[in-house]
Amino acid sequence: MQCNVPVIAAPPDTYPVNEIFESLQGEASFTGTPSVFVRLQGCPVGCPWCNAKHTWHVRPEREISVSAMTEKSELPCDSYSRCDVSTLANVVRAADAEHVVITGGEPCMYDLRPLIAKLEAWHHRVQVETSGTYVPLVTPTTFVTVSPKYEMPGGRTVLDEALARANEIKCAIGRRREIGVVLEKLDPIQQANGTPIWLQPLSASSRATAICIKAARRYGWRVSLQTNKFINIR
Ligand code: SF4
Repeated sequence: MQCNVPVIAAPPDTYPVNEIFESLQGEASFTGTPSVFVRLQGCPVGCPWCNAKHTWHVRPEREISVSAMTEKSELPCDSYSRCDVSTLANVVRAADAEHVVITGGEPCMYDLRPLIAKLEAWHHRVQVETSGTYVPLVTPTTFVTVSPKYEMPGGRTVLDEALARANEIKCAIGRRREIGVVLEKLDPIQQANGTPIWLQPLSASSRATAICIKAARRYGWRVSLQTNKFINIR
């Protein structure tokens, strides 16, 4: 199956923003950290189990105002607002949390450096969550979480440059054979760079969780649980 999602170049220093909300980071190294989430619109990777399919397409007819985006009540929703750096940074600044998570969609479709530089100048710590299929254009101090997506319908390749830039690698695991991919392609990076590998059970199923725990014990990896789901928050 081919996923023909076009990659739309954004005008310079603007970003299509699906939503901005505050919650706790529920996964991996920053679990439990109060965070502002900035969800960008657009992703051509096409993971069949994606829980953010509403972010895949950037359709001009679905563009809305910034205020309409920040006040969205109908969620999930594929509408988005095109925000310039100052507008977006000011919305983030109005929230309480110091930690900012830029997610998607696939945020690394866009050059994130102008936005992150502005947020860091205002003393935010910025984490970017990416599939590893684009080179992350981020500042040197950005915390990059790569969740590598291999052989997905969109046909994109996980890039060595993205994996080399990762501060952590987080793998969604549903089946036992996926452990072999982690062992072959990702464990050498942990061995070489010390980049922690997190296994995250797909859909928190008990079978996937057991596979993750067994592999983490055997190979020195970690298990990431989507803790926000346990307490029923986003
Ligand atoms: S990379 Fe993320 S947003 Fe894109 S299809 Fe996969 S899970 Fe969904």
